[in-house]
Amino acid sequence: MNIKILITGAAGFIGSNLSEYFVEKGCDVVGLDNLATGNLNNIAHLISCPNFEFIDGDIRNIETCHKAVAGRTYVLHQAALGSVPRSINDPIITNEVNISGFLNMLVACKDAGVKKMVYAASSSTYGDSKALPKVEEVIGKPLSPYAITKYVNELYADVFYKSYGLNSIGLRYFNVFGRRQDPNGTYAAVIPLFTKQLMNKQSPLINGDGTYSRDFTYIDNVIQANEKAMLSENPEAVNTIFNVACGERTDLNTLIDLLKQSLSKHDKAILDIETTYGPLRVGDVPHSLASIDKAKKILDYQPQFNLKEGLEEAVEWYWSHL
Ligand code: NAD
Repeated sequence: MNIKILITGAAGFIGSNLSEYFVEKGCDVVGLDNLATGNLNNIAHLISCPNFEFIDGDIRNIETCHKAVAGRTYVLHQAALGSVPRSINDPIITNEVNISGFLNMLVACKDAGVKKMVYAASSSTYGDSKALPKVEEVIGKPLSPYAITKYVNELYADVFYKSYGLNSIGLRYFNVFGRRQDPNGTYAAVIPLFTKQLMNKQSPLINGDGTYSRDFTYIDNVIQANEKAMLSENPEAVNTIFNVACGERTDLNTLIDLLKQSLSKHDKAILDIETTYGPLRVGDVPHSLASIDKAKKILDYQPQFNLKEGLEEAVEWYWSHL
């Protein structure tokens, strides 16, 4: 596949996996990242590849965005500050990166005449809507600054299509997990965090009673969705939003049981580790489950990994890398 792609957030979890996939496919890939939460180790194996170029730069700088987008056919925009709690602690920086940075990327894509920008949207946009499963057209009110930023991205992308004809697709990711997701720091996601705690024989801490549930989505499903969205020639696929998930809901207590079972292949004592329970976190939605019918129908998205299969892969990766 000889196409020119810009991947922003390339040194992060999802961006590095997308970069690896498309470099291996022979695409000409430029990766942009300011290493705010990403790590060069995630792409160290790509740096020497002739079809990969890394730009250390910030999407809050419009010149950087113009430079990175120049000559690219497609843009997979992943750069953002993730995490609901981070946005509650510091809404200003989340807004600057996730909204102003996003706007810069839209302007750069429009000016460079890119064929399509596929961007990381988020299940947090469903906010306080209690409807399950979540269908793309029915959203609630945002419950965090992060959720606002991700919703504003969708609104801006829509306006850039209507005003300037810029083609875009938003992929609302649901709790993505897998190799290279950072288990460290205050804002670590639950799967890498619990995996690391269990490997270290520490008790995993659940906020709440463990009945909150999520549609956990393995990284390879997300890669597939990005590729299909990027290459889709279906006119129904442009200027729209798709849920990217597995279509299964699992509560946190069950998640810990599954992790323990997987890890116990390496160390049986992990089965005996007890879970600790703490207060609920502000901004967390109780339950999340996606309808993936729209992506199946319009993009031919077919998730290849369910939670259990994805966890097996992820646990093996953490066991050999942490
Ligand atoms: P991540 O933190 O691992 O990756 C984000 C990357 O963006 C990092 O490498 C970071 O350094 C980079 N970045 C941050 N600010 C930047 C800036 N100003 N300029 C350039 N680069 C910058 O997170 P991730 O999990 O890989 O998330 C990727 C995208 O997917 C984000 O947009 C996130 O909001 C979205 N998303 C992720 C999930 C999930 O479950 N992981 C769910 C929904 C949406």
